[in-house]
Amino acid sequence: MLTLRESDIQLGCRADDWRAALDQAAASLVDAGLTTPDYREGLLSRETQSSTYLGNAIAIPHGTPESRAHVLNTGVRVLQFPEGVEWHDGQPVHVLVTIAAQNDEHLDILRQLTHVLDRDDVAQRLAGASDTEEVVGLLSRAPLRARLDADTLCLGTPARDLGELAMAGAARLRQAGCVGDGFIAELASARLQWLGQGAWLAIAERDVVTPALSLVTPADELEAHGESVNGVFCLAASGDSHLGLLDQVATLLEHGELETLRRGDAATLLALLAGEGGATRTRQVRVLNAHGLHARPAKQLVQVAREQALPIGVRLAEGGVESVSATSLTKVIGLGARRGQWLVLSAAGEDADSALSAVADAVNDGLGEAVEAFDDSHEDMPAATPAEASPAPSPLPDDTAHQAVAASPGLAIAPVFVMRLPRFDYARLADDAAAETRRLEAAVAEGAAQLAALTRSAPGGEVAEVLSMHEEMLDDPELLQAAREGIQEGYSAEAAWWEAIDTAACAQERLADRLLAERAADLRDVGRRVLGRLCDVELPEPPAHPYILVMEDVGPSDVARLDTQRVRGLLTARGGATAHSAILARALGIPAVVGAGDRIMALANDTPLILDGESGRIVPAPSTARRERAEQQLADRERRERDAWEARFEPAQTRDGQRVEVAANLGNTAHAADAVSRGAEGVGLLRTEFLFMAHAQAPDLDTQVTEYREALDALDGRPLVARTLDVGGDKPLPYWPVPQEDNPFLGLRGIRLALTRPEVLATQLEALLRAAVGRPLRIMLPMVKDVAELRTARAMLDRLLSDIAPDARATDVQLGVMIEVPSSALLAGSLAVEADFFSVGTNDLTQYALAIDRGHPELSAQADGLHPAVLRLIEMTVEAAHAQGKWVGVCGELASDATAVPVLVGLGVDELSVSARQVPMVKARLRDISMDTARDQARRALSRATAAEVRDALEQA
Ligand code: PEP
Ligand code: MG
Repeated sequence: MLTLRESDIQLGCRADDWRAALDQAAASLVDAGLTTPDYREGLLSRETQSSTYLGNAIAIPHGTPESRAHVLNTGVRVLQFPEGVEWHDGQPVHVLVTIAAQNDEHLDILRQLTHVLDRDDVAQRLAGASDTEEVVGLLSRAPLRARLDADTLCLGTPARDLGELAMAGAARLRQAGCVGDGFIAELASARLQWLGQGAWLAIAERDVVTPALSLVTPADELEAHGESVNGVFCLAASGDSHLGLLDQVATLLEHGELETLRRGDAATLLALLAGEGGATRTRQVRVLNAHGLHARPAKQLVQVAREQALPIGVRLAEGGVESVSATSLTKVIGLGARRGQWLVLSAAGEDADSALSAVADAVNDGLGEAVEAFDDSHEDMPAATPAEASPAPSPLPDDTAHQAVAASPGLAIAPVFVMRLPRFDYARLADDAAAETRRLEAAVAEGAAQLAALTRSAPGGEVAEVLSMHEEMLDDPELLQAAREGIQEGYSAEAAWWEAIDTAACAQERLADRLLAERAADLRDVGRRVLGRLCDVELPEPPAHPYILVMEDVGPSDVARLDTQRVRGLLTARGGATAHSAILARALGIPAVVGAGDRIMALANDTPLILDGESGRIVPAPSTARRERAEQQLADRERRERDAWEARFEPAQTRDGQRVEVAANLGNTAHAADAVSRGAEGVGLLRTEFLFMAHAQAPDLDTQVTEYREALDALDGRPLVARTLDVGGDKPLPYWPVPQEDNPFLGLRGIRLALTRPEVLATQLEALLRAAVGRPLRIMLPMVKDVAELRTARAMLDRLLSDIAPDARATDVQLGVMIEVPSSALLAGSLAVEADFFSVGTNDLTQYALAIDRGHPELSAQADGLHPAVLRLIEMTVEAAHAQGKWVGVCGELASDATAVPVLVGLGVDELSVSARQVPMVKARLRDISMDTARDQARRALSRATAAEVRDALEQA
């Protein structure tokens, strides 16, 4: 937890405006060794998303999640501005509490500061404070409240007598950091007081850090003084701050509810202690906001609560038993509720239910923020009853083609293996801790034995490595210890084990190192294996023969771990072609079809399947005739691939000699040599944003020159088409913050964004010009909507051409635009007059023409570049360009679609730029067709009304 110290305070700062103040704050974090200078961008970016002004002249700048990588140590710096600074939202600020935190520790600071917000004179006192102690005093935490929460409960404890129960309570309080050893010593000799109803109370005062109450219940029937024991309360008393806790125990006694102690779980007991029995109605609702109940959503919650006719209380289900008023902003923020935590809303009186529903609905709706449902797949909440579960999808019909999204080319014919994550149903709580511990230990041992057997029989390589890593994970004593502790708290072996796994996996996910973070998936795999043993549920094991892997969705780490020997193809219910996993599948050369919908999950294991990663079609249980055709196609394809590879260096042209250049799309200049070795006749699209993304800040002129030169050297005189920085939308650049937008794809991206920082664009143009001395250089602008953007960039380029001596720069330079916004295709006539060339980005052009997000998990299957609307836009583009003697390339994914190649060529496209792996096959495809056939295919395609009709027409031709 972050706390303020005098050495954190810097008095007497002065700044002209908020940016200057933020710069000082960032510099002070660097001086204190808390962050690197790059964290400043994160602070700035956070402010552009929303103000960190808290109230009472205090702002709490903190970085974005992406900038956490620049945090060296967690800490805080407090800067006092006696004269004040106007924050960007117009608020006067006297104190900046700037936080360097690797996770959500800023919520702790926020919580500590909430009490300051209630006090009227704090702003003036902070502004006028003349020593650091005074500032710490003003900002420091209010006295700690007495604790009684899930962490101080100790349910189902094995014990032989009252003394052992009392000591277990004392030990729990020490674990929770509320007391020291002195408390335990005093409690050991304290006399237990009889409360009635089978309950006793033990009190001690020595060595109390925080007043707290622990409740210990016995695991088995226990008697003392002729009474059956329901529980022992163990009180750490201090001053009079524990009196409220005694009140709560008294309330339980009054209601005669101590009898329920032994039967209740932690949630029930906390609810009783919170006074939520009787006439009080309650409602639980989960916080979905990514950053918890910070100031903005808390404000919304308070507003909704104020609109209700009844007072509403709110507390954290796993927090203390004290409800706070839902109409107090500071109290609601003070809960420090994080995403995923449950709030307990309570109210008493007529209409309590509808008031609670109104507040709960507002929380579910995100309290003014866009929120995503919490992933409950690993939660130990009660499982949905069969009646509530969504109906199972109907299976796909046999021997019928089903269209989905082509994600990685290639044809696969094999039986399917459907990876269904099993459902684990289990009770959350259990009475017999000793028995649960034994069950857990047996399940872990069985899981380890399974893994050892699998490792022995694994073919070696990556699979064996992964399995033996899983074995090691299972051997981790801390994991088992955490689960044992959970069992002692009253949880079942399953719930305690999964909690231990999930906690470790979440911690892993927070690591900055991507690879290490991805190990969280392994931990959960291991966790499921043991859960399977505990619940007696068989985990799906892939077959030993080749198969097509069918999954709900697939993460990059799943793809990286695929057994490439056996997995012939990949089919997923969700995901788009541009997802990382699809990109990885392409890199591994595994045919993949994604976004096929839930019905594929109903396929029976071992159903034969044809998967065409090129057209995106799958055919389950094909007829013998269809299967033989597909096998023939596969054999043909393998032969064609071999032939294409042999002929890869031949010039790309149609059968009748029409040259159509085939170039490669690159994201990394280092891959240019590989592209050339695959027969690429140039680079038709260098996505320079990846170079920018690979650096922590914008690469300077020299760095860029070196990188571009690497590609140009490898190309050895072949043309390079470099696209200027294309970020924004789905490609954020951490050090170039863009204000949060409702529709980033329609917002500041591509050339629009680049023109907001002309110096960055000018440096990039200069670097390209300087790197390309003596070589052909084509520069193209992304996301151009009309000629105005081209003119601005042209003026910039012309200035550079006249400023740099001709011998220090490229002289064969063309400036073109990408056609990826429908307006630019419609206005191709005016653009063609001033642009030197066009390159059609069919990925975005399709997205914008059809209004379908290219990464949409369900809809992207319909975002087909062969849609006649897209083809007409391409036709218009080519006609306009050729009328002005300009050339047109296509660099979107459509250029490598074997069905689309003749159509594009028939429309008059002069260049196709495709991923390097595709170059030999696209060249071969060109050699297959004559211009007459190509024109005929283009005509056919243009005459159809839908993408499906286009594909059908082309296949039948
Ligand atoms: C396109 O939109 O077709 C394109 C090539 O650009 P990107 O995929 O990088 O957006
Ligand atoms: Mg694009």
